[in-house]
Amino acid sequence: MVNRIYDYIIIGAGSAGCVLANRLSESGKHNVLLLEAGGEDKSPWVHIPIGYGRNFSNPNVNWLYESEPGVDWVKRRIKQPRGKVIGGSSSINGLIYMRGQKEDYEHWRQLGNTGWGYDQVLEYFKKSEDQEKGAGKFHGVGGPLTVSDPREKHPLADAYIKAAINSGYKLNDDFNGSEQEGFGYQQWTTRNGRRCSAAVGFLNPVRRRKNLTIESKAHTNRIVFDGIRAVGVEYEQRDQIKLAMAAREILISAGAYNSPQLLQLSGVGPSDILSELEIKMVANREGVGKNLQDHFNAPLMFELNENFTLNDVLNRWGPKIDHIMRYLFQQRGFLSMGVAYAGGYIKAHPSSVSPDIQNLLMLFTSELIGGPVDPFPGCASVVALLRPESRGSVNISSADPKLPPEITYNFLTAEKDRETLILGVKKVREIMRQEAISRYIVREVRPGTGSDRDEDILDFLEKSGRTSYHPVGTCRMGSDDEAVVDPRLRVNGVKSLRVVDASIMPTLVSGNTNAPVIMIGEKASDMVLEDNS
Ligand SMILES: Cc1cc2nc3c(=O)[nH]c(=O)nc-3n(C[C@H](O)[C@H](O)[C@H](O)COP(=O)(O)OP(=O)(O)OC[C@H]3O[C@@H](n4cnc5c(N)ncnc54)[C@H](O)[C@@H]3O)c2cc1C
Repeated sequence: MVNRIYDYIIIGAGSAGCVLANRLSESGKHNVLLLEAGGEDKSPWVHIPIGYGRNFSNPNVNWLYESEPGVDWVKRRIKQPRGKVIGGSSSINGLIYMRGQKEDYEHWRQLGNTGWGYDQVLEYFKKSEDQEKGAGKFHGVGGPLTVSDPREKHPLADAYIKAAINSGYKLNDDFNGSEQEGFGYQQWTTRNGRRCSAAVGFLNPVRRRKNLTIESKAHTNRIVFDGIRAVGVEYEQRDQIKLAMAAREILISAGAYNSPQLLQLSGVGPSDILSELEIKMVANREGVGKNLQDHFNAPLMFELNENFTLNDVLNRWGPKIDHIMRYLFQQRGFLSMGVAYAGGYIKAHPSSVSPDIQNLLMLFTSELIGGPVDPFPGCASVVALLRPESRGSVNISSADPKLPPEITYNFLTAEKDRETLILGVKKVREIMRQEAISRYIVREVRPGTGSDRDEDILDFLEKSGRTSYHPVGTCRMGSDDEAVVDPRLRVNGVKSLRVVDASIMPTLVSGNTNAPVIMIGEKASDMVLEDNS
């Protein structure tokens, strides 16, 4: 047992943890310890964007979780990858840069989360950003997170955008600008054709700060309390149990699965779970682990008549070598590509006042995500539900910190989720039937029926629906008694402990979650420093 004292201890070097480590050590006045269960981000496949395909099932960088089968709907396990490496999920994600909608943050504010309205979060999005489009009302330059356009256009993406416009949708050249609705190219968190993870942007440039200690392969087992005050962290590294003490605060940034797990293991959680597992209770907090949400999606897939997709590059030596050379010498081509090239945001449900469906065009297809690509040219047009009403949970089923938590989603249990996804699939199929893109399509491969009957679409969702790997909400922020953290992200019922990551989102934002979590890390850093000044 080694005892050392720091001002701040951060658990988890993911999207939020890397931001905290940078900002809290910036002044040089505070000693900061960053603990990460995974290893260093040395693998080239973390840095070459297309590596997300490999990392999807690579145990060296991934926790490889699975969710429980649903009871009434989606009665099967679904893979739940999570980054277990410096950079966390930002080191293995699909690189799409999306903030969600103004309305998402206004909704958080209306729920009682003072300080989290759109104007207040916008300043932090801009602070973190180095936007290739340049600075403006909605964008910043000079920040640690580089945001880029694809380095070249693709004829299928052009055709898809044209098909959407011919279907009556707007062209949108900036989904993170004045409005999200419409179709266009996606932006990626890449810098010169390489991944700009939270580690690359925020952590690696400041590794030499004397007041910042980074410990990788350091698995936190539990928070140590003195009464209700969090005073230290017990972690395991190279088969040794160690103890680090915090003079000011402990910040949990272990992500939407592991943050509630860690709280429960430490005695902060629902009393029935704690007593059943004989964990000494520090605070009875029923909300810890509840409110789990993700973007469930329908991955429509098509066989194409042109050899211009990633499938062809991976299946044939000629194009493979060509793309490797293009990447090595120009940092271009498929190796520099984020998961989706183009996309669109549409209103599907009649009651929606802002887009409720995200449609992503991916230039590859495979039966199993992360598995081998199909032996023909193909593209996927993924239809994701942006604001689900179904709610799940994350709970420990053992007091052993090394065992995975139980992840239960209850996808599609809310009727509106089913309705919106069915309508979304129909609208996206209308786009894919437009001549501009249908001239490239040989057939729909998955589901393959082409049937727009509600029951057939639902059947596809039941059997083949996927998640978008955006779990949030399990340490919900709020100003009510049930909330896990207050609007300054302090854990209710205890002292000197905050949660700072995707788990604090009260509701899921209408877009991908890396940029919002980085914003949360930026805003939390200011709050921590203010509250301790
Ligand atoms: C396959 C995949 C694709 C995605 N695609 C996109 C995308 O294209 N665009 C986008 O915006 N978002 C995407 N996301 C989501 C996005 O990356 C996450 O929402 C975001 O990174 C979450 O940040 P976080 O800080 O909450 O958690 P994480 O980044 O997951 O960080 C948590 C960290 O804590 C560590 N940790 C956990 N438990 C412990 C412990 N007990 N002790 C020590 N360390 C611990 C983990 O190893 C990890 O490094 C994707 C995610 C995945 C997995």
